[in-house]
Amino acid sequence: MAKEPIRILTKNWDIKNSNTIEAYIKNGGYKALEKAIKQMNPEQVMDEVKKSNLRGRGGAGFPAGVKWGFVPKDSDKLKYLCVNADEGEPGTFKDRYIMTLDPHMLLEGIAITSYAVGISAAYIYIRNEYIESIAILKTAIQEAKAKNYLGASILGSNFNLEIYVHRGAGAYIAGEETGLIESLEGKRAMPRIRPPFPAAVGVFNCPTVVNNVETIACVPSIIEHGGEWFAGIGVSKDGGTKLYAVSGHVNNPGVYELPVGTSLQKILYEHAGGIKGGELKAVIPGGISASVLAARECDIAMDCQSVAKAGSMLGSAGIIVMNNRVCMVEALFNIAEFYAEESCGQCTPCRSGSHWIKNILERILHGKGKTDDLEIMLSFIPGIMGRTICAFGDALCGPVQSFITKFRDEFEYHIIEGKCNIRNKLDIL
Ligand code: SF4
Repeated sequence: MAKEPIRILTKNWDIKNSNTIEAYIKNGGYKALEKAIKQMNPEQVMDEVKKSNLRGRGGAGFPAGVKWGFVPKDSDKLKYLCVNADEGEPGTFKDRYIMTLDPHMLLEGIAITSYAVGISAAYIYIRNEYIESIAILKTAIQEAKAKNYLGASILGSNFNLEIYVHRGAGAYIAGEETGLIESLEGKRAMPRIRPPFPAAVGVFNCPTVVNNVETIACVPSIIEHGGEWFAGIGVSKDGGTKLYAVSGHVNNPGVYELPVGTSLQKILYEHAGGIKGGELKAVIPGGISASVLAARECDIAMDCQSVAKAGSMLGSAGIIVMNNRVCMVEALFNIAEFYAEESCGQCTPCRSGSHWIKNILERILHGKGKTDDLEIMLSFIPGIMGRTICAFGDALCGPVQSFITKFRDEFEYHIIEGKCNIRNKLDIL
């Protein structure tokens, strides 16, 4: 008999009116918060999350419990939680589903996290385009307050928590944790130099935890079932399930909840219905900041360590699939154009480098490339990588290096022949 799929984050999505508090409570919701407040002290909650091996689901993959532990216990300043709901990484669209279909799972996770860390004010920094999610979250907060799961003296304890929904300012870089903090404070989303890290000096110069929506939404199930249970679902040092958002050339694009470490082949062929419109050519496994994998490299497990070993990163697990009708010059140009547009401009290597790369790719794409263009672009990389304030610079370099290295013949054909080999062969144009 086939094993039932494990559903943690998506378990309520098929229920009628799943975003209401009645549906959530009927299906066991807010029991974990009650357990945390009435049966556990904050240290025990934090220990359980450490045991679970829950890693941040926003991109960096840092262990969540360890991150919480960096917040100084003896600080007399207010402590804050910022939930990163900006979800601006192209190819990533899973947090929107959590907020729209099960907002109370996120709110319960926020409440438990805040109880563990000693936080009394939390912000959900949400991208402005998520109009439906914003309205649903605001309603859910009012519902939870009315039942005393939020607000003052939660469930009769001395724990107080207010949650505020803060609409984002429309910049990709506002999804970077210190850019997000700057934006939340009413400034341009310019990432800060670290150290100090937000755990010590974050929003309003106070200790701050910044975690992604999916990360926080995992917390209720960890408290309900225990950290060891959660850790046992994934792989070593990377526990639980993961929402894999699959887009591009597959028959069934969508969000799939599967154990961390599920094979990419299984995700593509069993869940996403196989490749659409041609053969598999390449996959970007973790949003556009991740290096591209050629089809021959796609026999991997989808967890942080395995994807890193394959030369890319799990990132947000936004899986972008390309079939053999895709022109890789055009694909990389699209990515470079995005980076050139979204650089915040603080660091010269990122600000200028992103535009130089975009401009060179544009001329190659339009048949005006020069013979040394590829070497020129690759020569920029050591000057950008590791030399910028935030990871945006590195994120730009990964795709450039991997696309050019792995699909060099396509770039050379564009330069030498002044046209696209792929489109020529397939008679697309
Ligand atoms: Fe801004 Fe780019 Fe520097 Fe990040 S790397 S701070 S996005 S200029």
